[in-house]
Amino acid sequence: MDSTDNKSRRTAQDPEGLKDLNFYKFVLESLPTAVVTVNADRKITGFNPWAEKITGYSAEEAIGRYCGDILQGGMCKTRCPLKTVLNGHKPLSLVETTISDKWGKTIPVRMNTAGLFDDDDRLIGGVESFQDISRIKTLEREKGHLISMLAHDMRSSLSIIAGFALRLLKVWPRINDEKRCKYLDIIIKNANKLEDLVNDFLEFSRLQTGKLKLEMGPTSVDRELMELFDAYQLKAKESGISLEFENEENLSIIQADAKRLRRVFTNLLDNALKFSNPGGKITLSTLETDGDIIVKIEDQGIGIDRRDLPYIFDSFFRGVGVDKKKGFGLGLAGVKAIVEGHGGRISVESEPGKGSMFSVILPKGMEFEE
Ligand code: ADP
Repeated sequence: MDSTDNKSRRTAQDPEGLKDLNFYKFVLESLPTAVVTVNADRKITGFNPWAEKITGYSAEEAIGRYCGDILQGGMCKTRCPLKTVLNGHKPLSLVETTISDKWGKTIPVRMNTAGLFDDDDRLIGGVESFQDISRIKTLEREKGHLISMLAHDMRSSLSIIAGFALRLLKVWPRINDEKRCKYLDIIIKNANKLEDLVNDFLEFSRLQTGKLKLEMGPTSVDRELMELFDAYQLKAKESGISLEFENEENLSIIQADAKRLRRVFTNLLDNALKFSNPGGKITLSTLETDGDIIVKIEDQGIGIDRRDLPYIFDSFFRGVGVDKKKGFGLGLAGVKAIVEGHGGRISVESEPGKGSMFSVILPKGMEFEE
């Protein structure tokens, strides 16, 4: 940055305040936030590496030009934030606006603006710092979209249930048992689907309001897993996927909410199946250390894009390229909350095209004799 030594501390040992200056320079250059300084004429005097990254302009290209020419902000013409602070007003913080990059692409940003003063408190320019919030905005849009799809799916199951029940009532004496069973089967399937959707949504709202209550009791993790393993054999076979269980026998009995833990493993197994291709393998394995029980669910499926990894445990987040698979991005958020509610951790390792491995680490805490 080529800017402001106005507030650097000068001492007898460091009369130029160079130590301070180097420190600020280092901070500004390493910050993952764009920082642009201007003089009193709003010409750019400093442009840090993150500002270069977001705008596409190099510091060399930007310095000396009018701030509005480089940032072409959404508020430039109407309510220029810098003009406001340079006219002696208070700093502006967390203003959401847009800028345009070098190629004309509009980027949503969150911006802070403040005046810069010299030692005599005279205004000599301003500073703008901003962060690219495109990803947050996209997630907000996707969340809205998924919520409306969830409501739409609930309504469509309800209409099917109501429609078939009414039809059954009207035609009951005129149809045979086979037909009646067929209608009832459709009603039951849709009622189950609706129940799953409502459960997902209820769990999500409990998480949001911090009302997830665990009912703890002595729990055998390997017994729960064994039952699930048996239940998932057929499902896996139908999808052309082999399912294996590498169990360390007789894991310690731990204090846990067995029903919720089943939900964790069901969710992870459902995902492993959903994101696997026929011919793939899913391996369920357990391991016991001094302090923890570790359950791993590994698949050879589509894997997770590196850029998605930090977000997959967020509510309503769905990875790139999964649009065709069913889901609302609520499963893993619930899984994480339940595992953390047990004082545990969940982590994921994944390679696109090769597969993913989820590890659930549950602290043994107080053990029980069976
Ligand atoms: P949903 O499965 O309904 O999309 P989740 O919260 O369970 O929601 O998962 C969030 C996202 O994480 C998924 O949309 C997908 O992108 C990614 N994901 C989860 N599990 C796997 C897996 N085993 N393989 C690949 N991607 C996965």
